[in-house]
Amino acid sequence: MTNIMLEVKNLKKIYDELGPSPKIALDDLSFEIKNNEFVCIMGPSGSGKTTLVNILSTIDKATSGIVNISGASIVGMSGAAKAKFRKKKLGFIFQNYNLLDTLTVKENIVLPLRLSKVTVEQNKFERIVKELEIKEVLNKYPFECSGGQLQRVAVARTLIMNPKIIFADEPTGNLDGVRSKQLMQYLEKINKNRNITIVMVTHDPLDAAYSSQMYYIEDGKIKNHIIKGDDTFEEYFS
Ligand code: ADP
Ligand code: MG
Repeated sequence: MTNIMLEVKNLKKIYDELGPSPKIALDDLSFEIKNNEFVCIMGPSGSGKTTLVNILSTIDKATSGIVNISGASIVGMSGAAKAKFRKKKLGFIFQNYNLLDTLTVKENIVLPLRLSKVTVEQNKFERIVKELEIKEVLNKYPFECSGGQLQRVAVARTLIMNPKIIFADEPTGNLDGVRSKQLMQYLEKINKNRNITIVMVTHDPLDAAYSSQMYYIEDGKIKNHIIKGDDTFEEYFS
């Protein structure tokens, strides 16, 4: 059993490679993320953060390079194999929550199970609801909930599938300071208690302070890698 959750080697992404103005979004990235890390990715707008997370989470395809998640190479996988792999191992949290307006909170949370034709385990459901403190909104519709509640519901929806790794692109992007802090505390708890690796893009150093390490990217290259406990980490985030 290896302790590596995510392995990236010589990863490149070029948009419009054959067009008149190709854009190198990721320029030969290599790094490894160990199991149970809480990694954050920072960098200026346009530096390649979303591109990176989309490729790591199998939503987008690399131009070249290697990506292994939990020992499996996702680069060579067929579309169907990827979809299956996503369901089994990956969790997602989006800036805009991506909940369905016409379903109640409860229906939203169990939707991935329904779509996979898996029975909802009541105990598990209740544990997640308790952990994220969303009991009082279960029968409400998304429009009746606050942003903080919506994001917790989105976290619950992804937890119900038992992911090994959760990808989050600016999950606090639509939240105010207090709600951002709350969400980070929930994510920290999930990371610690459930042995789930988290890879999160953020532009907010206050969010990043909850992570165990930070990659700073600029122009598609890793410019800095800081690990919690290093002097530089404390300097960066205090
Ligand atoms: P970030 O999330 O850090 O803001 P992105 O990954 O969205 O950065 O974008 C990285 C670079 O790639 C930017 O220059 C952006 O304009 C470019 N880019 C992103 N998506 C596309 C696309 N679909 N086609 C062409 N260029 C793109
Ligand atoms: Mg982005």
